[in-house]
Amino acid sequence: MKESIDYPDSYYYHTANNLKERSSLKGSHAADICVIGAGYTGLLTALNLSERGHDVTIVEANKLAWGASGRNGGQLGSGHNKKIHELEKDYGKSLANELWRLSEYGKSIVKTRIEKHEIDCDLKAGNATVSNDRGDDHHHKEYVEKLNTDYGYDLVRYMNPEEVREMFHSSYFDGGGSLDMGGAHLHPLNYALGLAQAAEDSGVKIYENSRVTSYSNGSPCIVKTNEGEVKADHVVLACNGYLDNLENKLAVKMMPINNFILATEQMSEEEVRYINRDDVCVHDNKFHVHYFRISQDNRLLFGGGESYARNFPKDLKSYVRKTMLEVYPHLHDKTIDYAWGGRIGVTVNRMPHVGRLHTNVYFAHGYSGHGVAMASLAGTVLAEAIDGTVSNLDIFSKIKIPTFPGGTLLRWPGFYLGMLYYALRDRL
Ligand SMILES: Cc1cc2nc3c(=O)[nH]c(=O)nc-3n(C[C@H](O)[C@H](O)[C@H](O)COP(=O)(O)OP(=O)(O)OC[C@H]3O[C@@H](n4cnc5c(N)ncnc54)[C@H](O)[C@@H]3O)c2cc1C
Repeated sequence: MKESIDYPDSYYYHTANNLKERSSLKGSHAADICVIGAGYTGLLTALNLSERGHDVTIVEANKLAWGASGRNGGQLGSGHNKKIHELEKDYGKSLANELWRLSEYGKSIVKTRIEKHEIDCDLKAGNATVSNDRGDDHHHKEYVEKLNTDYGYDLVRYMNPEEVREMFHSSYFDGGGSLDMGGAHLHPLNYALGLAQAAEDSGVKIYENSRVTSYSNGSPCIVKTNEGEVKADHVVLACNGYLDNLENKLAVKMMPINNFILATEQMSEEEVRYINRDDVCVHDNKFHVHYFRISQDNRLLFGGGESYARNFPKDLKSYVRKTMLEVYPHLHDKTIDYAWGGRIGVTVNRMPHVGRLHTNVYFAHGYSGHGVAMASLAGTVLAEAIDGTVSNLDIFSKIKIPTFPGGTLLRWPGFYLGMLYYALRDRL
């Protein structure tokens, strides 16, 4: 599927609040900070800086939240892509503690912004992790116990296999799981649109249909589009999975992966409560994750199926439906009203890549599927740093992000083989 500058034909697009056109950048402009990309990262960077009195311009190649921020599963999870015991093993307990604190900060940023700006985005509490294998049960128990005991986080509890079956009624989920009432789910595009409104109310200028073709890191930095330029003291690269060749030093650290979602027709209250008793969001612990939740108007929003090819599968509805039927075969007669996909930015070690390229050029990307909280966090942390408080950015700097073997040209074949291996392992 060829991506255009229009929004994808998603459930989110059809239920978006107050979509409006914004003009493109023409001529020469000046700003304290120029942010490239209008997803959560760019919007939170801009909003926070503007609230601190800086003059901020966002330049977006397509539409506001056209990227992953307007297309995702809407799951607001705790922690990082790496689970807490992996963080402790890889980085030691002290850094794991700091990373956990940051991730909690990320979740609270999302909730606080929604409340403060009265963003109408269907926020609901509850995020469940379920397992396909009873042999995994001890992992869920250990995870919950560690968070409860060592991190003082008591909003998560263990669910035994019987409870998982009773809550979600799928024989695909044969094991137990955990239920995190500190996690939540939301309408991702409406969250972004609400952030944009808050940013514009605070004085941020947002230009759409203005692809940045190059930037320089001088004094000032010059950010160029086809028809205009912004001269700024600082530049923030917030392009994530859509970065392409704008900055190769970043592109070699992140792999864009396509991930897909469908929305069924509307169902009765009884039907949706059968597959999701408590109206929480759900994901399993496969490497190629299945995830779902119920929309405000009682559709199943089901995500699954990834592709490492550059193009989307031709018939996306059938592609994702096949995965949905593995989990819920009884939905075979439901019409699929929408299916869409987007790019997730993944790093080699699945940790976010957040930092500074030059004294006045900052970046954040590679949230590896955890961007609702992490991109909101990273945008806030970049704004703090540009405004002079670097303590949170320093924590991210302690995480070294490996380069993909083969760089931007050759990372695909190696990565593709790696993914095939994990896909096979999932099936076994
Ligand atoms: C299908 C899918 C499901 C997901 N599910 C979840 C989930 O349930 N929970 C979760 O936490 N995360 C999820 N994610 C990940 C999450 O959506 C992202 O991590 C997050 O939205 C990243 O935000 P961002 O602002 O960094 O990037 P994006 O939202 O991708 O925004 C980047 C923007 O930069 C713009 N851009 C790129 N290049 C240029 C240029 N040269 N000039 C100007 N603008 C440019 C793009 O047009 C785009 O709008 C999912 C992602 C996808 C695709």
